[in-house]
Order: sequence, then C-alpha cells, then structure tokens
Amino acid sequence: MPTASKKTSREWIDGFLFVGNHLALDFLNTRPVLAEGPKELLPDVDALVRWLVASGLLTRAEGRALARKWRRTPQSARFLRELLKFRERLRATIIRQEAGFSVSDAFIGELNSLLKEDPSVIALQRTGKKLLLGTIFKPENPNDVWAPIGIAVAEFLSNVSPGRVRKCESCVVHFLDTSKKGSRRWCSMNICGNKIKVAAYQQRKRAEVKKIR
Ligand SMILES: [Zn+2]
Repeated sequence: MPTASKKTSREWIDGFLFVGNHLALDFLNTRPVLAEGPKELLPDVDALVRWLVASGLLTRAEGRALARKWRRTPQSARFLRELLKFRERLRATIIRQEAGFSVSDAFIGELNSLLKEDPSVIALQRTGKKLLLGTIFKPENPNDVWAPIGIAVAEFLSNVSPGRVRKCESCVVHFLDTSKKGSRRWCSMNICGNKIKVAAYQQRKRAEVKKIR
C-alpha cells in the first residue's frame, strides 16, 4: 500500500492539492485556505472517492464503481463525518509535533485501532513481465478506507523526521521538506511563494521611497 503520494509531480490533481510529499499530509491538506477563504475539498463521498483516485489508492474504474455504490448511503455519510474529525485530530497532532511535543497516547491508541481493521491482503501480482509481492487494497465498505489513511499516518509519525515537517509560512498547508538544504518555506511557489515574494518586494520599495523622502 503506498504511503507516499504516487503523483507528486503536479501540485493539483483533479482539484486536490498534492504538495505535502506524503500521503498523510496530502490528506491533511484537503482543507486549504484559498484566495476565497477556507475550502473543504472533501464535502461528500464522491469527493472522497475522487481523492482516493487522485492519490493513487484506487484506479479510476474502482473509483467509479465505489462512488456509485457508496453515494448517499447513511454509512458513507457517517464515515465521512468521522474521517473529517480524525483529520482535525491529525492536524492538532502535527501542529503539536512541529512545536516539539510528542504524539499523545490517545492518538497512538486511535491509530492502532484503525490499523487493526486493515482489510488489505498480501498477494503476488503480475505487473508486465515482473511479479510483485505487495498488499492489495480493495475496499468494499467506506470503513475500509480507514486502513490506508491510518497506515499512512502511522508510517508518517514513525518514519518522518519532525524537523522536516512544517506549515507553509503563508497558509494552513503542511508539507514534508524533502529539499536538499531543508529550506522549503512555502506549500508551493505558485500558491504562496510568489505572493510572499511580491509582498516583500512591495515592502522594500515602500521603505526605499520613505528613505528618499
Ligand atoms: Zn501556502
């Protein structure tokens, strides 16, 4: 099961933001603040399924079939509500971690409960001429989606150096800094980097004008 987002070359995929460099952070970043204000990118189960496809956890065909099956069922609505609450607990955990605090026992316990429900199986699969041993994720029920998200978060908390995780200086997006120097400051140059650079430039110009006067 992938824990790093498969498609990191593009910042936006099907209306979702993929700048976190880790699936756990890309999941967290499904509620960004855009020019028009905070935006919930997972407002319904259709959106959730599209996100699972965009993040590479499901194929398009699997996504289409699941969206039809899960659409407007009370079970999927309940699941989505719980998932979004979990996302906010994850946000609190990551903010705490960025401030140098360790992960709470309650959150570790919650994650371990999610991991127990993992429906994926290990199987040998043919990919072209090669055989690949790996886990297969074939969700039947919305609750099955807890597993890949739980695994991604658990992998993130256990493997990623907290010093490399930070929030964008200009918005609510968190990312894993994989740059060589470890000096990444923004979620994306296109979204926030340019905005800050322009603001800094204007401030410098204003200061220069004041000096001349
Ligand atoms: Zn940003």
